[in-house]
Amino acid sequence: MSKSYQAIVIGAGPAGSSAALAMASAGLDVALVERGSFPGEKNMFGGVLHRMPALEEYFPDFWDRAPLERHIIKKGVTFMTGDSSFNTTIEAGSFDKPPYNGYTIFRPRFDKWLADEAVKAGATLITRATVEELVKTDGRITGVTIQGRSGQISAPIVIAADGVLSFTAKKAGLRQPTFDPGQVAVGVKALIDMPREMIDERFGLVRDQGFANEFVGCTDGVRGGGFLYTNYDSISVGLVFHLASLRTSGKTPYDLLNAFLEQPQMAKMVCGGRLQEYSAHLIPEGGFDMIPELVGDGIMVAGDAAAFCNATGLNLEGINLASQSGVIAGKAAVAAHAARDFSKRGLSVYKKMLDESYVIKDLKLFRKAPHMLHNNRIYREYPEMMCDFMENIYKIEGAPKNNVSRVFLQSATKKVGLGKLLADGFSAWRSL
Ligand SMILES: Cc1cc2nc3c(=O)[nH]c(=O)nc-3n(C[C@H](O)[C@H](O)[C@H](O)COP(=O)(O)OP(=O)(O)OC[C@H]3O[C@@H](n4cnc5c(N)ncnc54)[C@H](O)[C@@H]3O)c2cc1C
Repeated sequence: MSKSYQAIVIGAGPAGSSAALAMASAGLDVALVERGSFPGEKNMFGGVLHRMPALEEYFPDFWDRAPLERHIIKKGVTFMTGDSSFNTTIEAGSFDKPPYNGYTIFRPRFDKWLADEAVKAGATLITRATVEELVKTDGRITGVTIQGRSGQISAPIVIAADGVLSFTAKKAGLRQPTFDPGQVAVGVKALIDMPREMIDERFGLVRDQGFANEFVGCTDGVRGGGFLYTNYDSISVGLVFHLASLRTSGKTPYDLLNAFLEQPQMAKMVCGGRLQEYSAHLIPEGGFDMIPELVGDGIMVAGDAAAFCNATGLNLEGINLASQSGVIAGKAAVAAHAARDFSKRGLSVYKKMLDESYVIKDLKLFRKAPHMLHNNRIYREYPEMMCDFMENIYKIEGAPKNNVSRVFLQSATKKVGLGKLLADGFSAWRSL
C-alpha cells in the first residue's frame, strides 16, 4: 500500500473529521486514517455537545442534521456528603429554544456521521488502520506507515488528531514523551438503559428535553466529580478523577463508581435502569499550560492531542474545541498548499488563527482554573460545608435561631476554617 494525498489526518474523532471536512470541502485530496473499525467505535465521553460554530459554518442546518439525543434545558450541581446532598439547578427558558445550548449525543453515532460527511465532501476514510510511524524526508514529515501494512501513505501535510495520548505528536517531538499525571484526568462511565417515560418523569422533562447534573463530594476525597446526563432512553452516569490524586489514593475507578451509584441520592436516580456498559477514557485537563508545540515541519496537532479541553469545574468543553481546532488546521493546510510552503513557518498560520479563535482565548482566560481544581478541600470539606449550612438553615428546633450569616459562619468554621475559605474564595474568583 503506497499512495499519495495532499494531506493525511490521523484519527477520525471530532478534531480529525472536522479537519478532513474543511480540507476536502476546499478541494484537497485527503486521507482520514482511523484505527477503529468505524469512527467513534472506541470513543466515549460524558457528555454534552455544546455549540459548534466550526461545523455550523459547513452545515447551517447542523442541529437538524447531526445525530443528537436530548437538548439540555436543566443544568444542576449537587454537593454530596454520603448521607446528605444539596442541589442547585437552573432551568432556563432560553435553553429550551433553538439555538439550543447543548445536546447529549452518542459518540459512535456522532463520530461516524461526521466522518461520513467528510467522505461526502471528498475525503478518503481508511479504517482499521493504526498509524505506527511518521515518515520523514530531509527532516520534514511527509507521510505515515500503518501497523501491519507494508508501504506508506505520503502527503506534504500530516494532522495529528489522535487524541489525548497522541503518540504521533510525541514521535514528531512536539510533545513530552510522558504526560504529567497532574494534568490528566480519567473518566469512567456507566451507560444505564431506562425507559424514556421513566426518564421524563424522574427528571421532570417533556418532549426532547434533557438534564445535565454534576456532583461534587462523591469521590471519597479523591479530586474529581460526578456527572449524570439523560439520553433518549438511557442515562450516562460517571466520575472523573485527577489521575495523580487517584493514584495516591490507591482506590480503583470502578470501585468508586459503584460506591457512587449506591449512594442513597444516586440509587434513587438509577433504580429501574439496566446497566448496559462501562467505559473509560483519559481527559487532558491541564488547560493552557498543557498545550504542546502545535506546529512542526509538515505537521500540525489538533483536538485533545493538543490538550484543547477546557475543564473549569463549571463545564467540560472538549468536542467543540476539537472540532474548531480541526477546521482551523484544515484551513491552514489549504493556505499552505496555496503558498506551496509546508515548513513549520508555512504552517504557523494555524497557530495565528487559533490565537484569534475562542479555543485559545478561552483556555487563556481560564488558565488558572486547573490549578484551582487541585485544591483537595473542594472535594470533601466544601460539600460538607454546603450540606451542613443548608441543613441548619432548614432545621426548626423550637429554640432561638441564629441569623443566616451566623449559621453560615458556624458551618464554614466547623468544616473548612475561615482563613482557608477566604483564600480559596479569592483563588476561585481569580480563576473563574
Ligand atoms: C468522561 C468524559 C467526559 C467528557 N465530557 C465531555 C463533555 O460533556 N463535553 C465535551 O465537549 N467534551 C467532553 N469530553 C472531552 C471530549 O470527549 C474530547 O475533548 C474529544 O473527544 C476530543 O476529540 P479528538 O478528536 O481530539 O480526540 P478523540 O475523540 O479521542 O479522537 C481521536 C481518534 O483518533 C483515533 N486514533 C488514535 N490513535 C490513532 C492512531 N495511531 N492511528 C489511527 N487512529 C488513531 C481514535 O480511535 C479516535 O477515533 C469528555 C471526555 C471524557 C473522557
